[in-house]
Amino acid sequence: MKSLIVANWKCNPTSLAEAKRLFNSVEKGVKDFKNVEVVICPPFPYLPMVGMASRSGVKLGGQDVFWEEKGAFTGEVSPKMLKDFECKYVIIGHSERRRNFKETDEMVNKKLKAALKIGLRPILCIEKMSQIKKGIKGFIKKDFKKIVFAYEPVWAIGTGKPCSIEKAKKMNSLFRKIMNKNVLLYGGSVNSQNARDFIKKAKFQGFLIGGASLNPQEFIKIVKNISKD
Ligand code: PEP
Repeated sequence: MKSLIVANWKCNPTSLAEAKRLFNSVEKGVKDFKNVEVVICPPFPYLPMVGMASRSGVKLGGQDVFWEEKGAFTGEVSPKMLKDFECKYVIIGHSERRRNFKETDEMVNKKLKAALKIGLRPILCIEKMSQIKKGIKGFIKKDFKKIVFAYEPVWAIGTGKPCSIEKAKKMNSLFRKIMNKNVLLYGGSVNSQNARDFIKKAKFQGFLIGGASLNPQEFIKIVKNISKD
């Protein structure tokens, strides 16, 4: 099975020119690694520029989405808008959105439903079991199966202090009790040194990567390290 590596650029880089450079380097650098699916989630305004990604092996994703299709919702972006810009994935419920924008599990639930309805693959960020249970409330099995989960301990995000492999492995088995065959990613200070252990020892199927995704050499190295058997 292919590993899934998702780059979350967050509110970076600061110019379109840099975004193009970053995207092109990554696209070129990962093209020969066959058993890894690479997804880049840039800020919304950069989506059209990297939209030609569909021509390469790299896929696109949104960093967030709104649950309504249209209307008087200033600042929001609908699932169809993301779809039109060739997004295949969308990150939902990132801890930065929960913390800084007061996103609740109920909002996350609506976003998940709206994304699935239009055919986007949601990447649901979670830290604890209750976030999964509330996030997927009312879901039928068929839709639940399509959700990619990302275990992201908040204290490991952007701190340079990743979760220990032992704890990550424990959390993986815990989530697996209700997840069945869903893809489960790890996120939190992943780098080229620790990536392989999260896959080989802690049994994750890929990563959600923030900081290291802005450094093309490091990001490509992560993809390379996990693509070897
Ligand atoms: C993230 O923001 O989802 C994340 C995992 O960030 P970092 O890789 O920088 O810890």
